[in-house]
Amino acid sequence: MRYISTRGEAPALGFEDVLLTGLATDGGLYVPESLPHFSLEEIRSWRGLPYAELAFNVMYPFVEDAIPADDFRKMLDETYSGFAHQSVAPLVQLDSNEWVMELFRGPTLAFKDFALQLLGRLLDYVLEKRKQHVVIMGATSGDTGSAAIEGCRRCEHVDIFILHPYQRVSEVQRRQMTTVQGDNIHNIAVKGNFDDCQRMVKESFGDQSFLRGKTQLAAVNSINWARIMAQIVYYFQASLALGGPDRSMAFSVPTGNFGDIFAGYLAKKMGLPISQLVIATNRNDILHRFMSGNRYEKQQLEHTLSPSMDIMVSSNFERLLFDLHGRDGAAVKDLLENAAKGPVSIEDYRWKSARKLFDSDAVDDKATCDTIREIYEQNEYLLDPHTAIGVRAARNCRRDATVPMITLGTAHPAKFPDAIVESGLSVKPQLPPHMADLFEREERYTVLENDLAEVQGFLSKHWKNA
Ligand SMILES: *Cc1c(COP(=O)(O)O)cnc(C)c1O
Repeated sequence: MRYISTRGEAPALGFEDVLLTGLATDGGLYVPESLPHFSLEEIRSWRGLPYAELAFNVMYPFVEDAIPADDFRKMLDETYSGFAHQSVAPLVQLDSNEWVMELFRGPTLAFKDFALQLLGRLLDYVLEKRKQHVVIMGATSGDTGSAAIEGCRRCEHVDIFILHPYQRVSEVQRRQMTTVQGDNIHNIAVKGNFDDCQRMVKESFGDQSFLRGKTQLAAVNSINWARIMAQIVYYFQASLALGGPDRSMAFSVPTGNFGDIFAGYLAKKMGLPISQLVIATNRNDILHRFMSGNRYEKQQLEHTLSPSMDIMVSSNFERLLFDLHGRDGAAVKDLLENAAKGPVSIEDYRWKSARKLFDSDAVDDKATCDTIREIYEQNEYLLDPHTAIGVRAARNCRRDATVPMITLGTAHPAKFPDAIVESGLSVKPQLPPHMADLFEREERYTVLENDLAEVQGFLSKHWKNA
């Protein structure tokens, strides 16, 4: 399988290179040159398979040039046996024909584990083969750094440095990152804010000379193709559990960078009957404004009760735009260069073709809390704020009550207790047993000044073979 850039100018790459690359050299994102397509009969034959086996069937065509089948199977077994539920992605029923798929049974209690637990293993496998080493550098405002750290904890050929703003992340968030043991794991608390952290990462990628050519930086952010790939699988799993592929499904997806829902779009293109995808956003609603009025325009960042969806632009949306423009990289490049200067629209027929599949909604903090309370009162079931946005949008956008509506449950409620308190409920979400001793575990992190040279000096001194 070859991968091409959405802006049409960068060289095509194979899976291994795509895995190790962030942005393409032309500023685009990599997508498969063509997708595998499965017949209904083939999909039907996967009914009842354990998650790891289903994952193999769905993903193997994407990696087959780089990884022998048995090695990939082993990797998948290891990855998904680390989830605290036998079915890996259990479904919970909310109402007639309405479901939540719990994607938060992994080590850090959010759906990002599905991709990052696999990504760490893929990276290590490819680096071992190539006798290479990489340094992963990333910044987090608190809620997503832990999944990357957990994903890399066993990697022999990867050192990971995650920057977070000192004293500006919650204790649960900090502890989820700093209690992971491993001599390749480095938490840095920067005496600054999240933007400072992000800027240092960006500048370090731009000029890697501080590593003196001995290693290279790699990114595991949400544009990484392998992450998208891993997220396609659970759409198949949910559908097969509810009577697919002999009936179609609707999914509502709490959306930030458009990675998770783009995986659903790919599942459909690969043959899974999906009749509706709901883009559920919070007040950072650039995608909702686009889907409802064909106007794509950046606005100020809002801080909400669902911080993992606080974005100004959704980086993976470019991958959909590429398809909407008949895979014309030059057209995408033009559009996005214009979008950097002001509002843009796409041709009406292209926008309408997107609207055949996608609906959208923007849910504010009050409606988020109302939904958490409502679902708790109806079902004694606690939603985290991101999932609550998905459920609210699913209910607002539903087209056909005979089609199962599945909201992706993206985080465990105990990860975001503030929203539960805000919703007026007096229940306290409990951390699951495998996390219950989080507050007794030993922490390891280094506090550094808000200074690029100091942070880079720390990196170049502390990666494993420095
Ligand atoms: C990352 C994240 C999202 C958004 O997912 P995207 O793939 O960026 O759209 C939603 N909810 C939670 C809890 C997340 O961590």
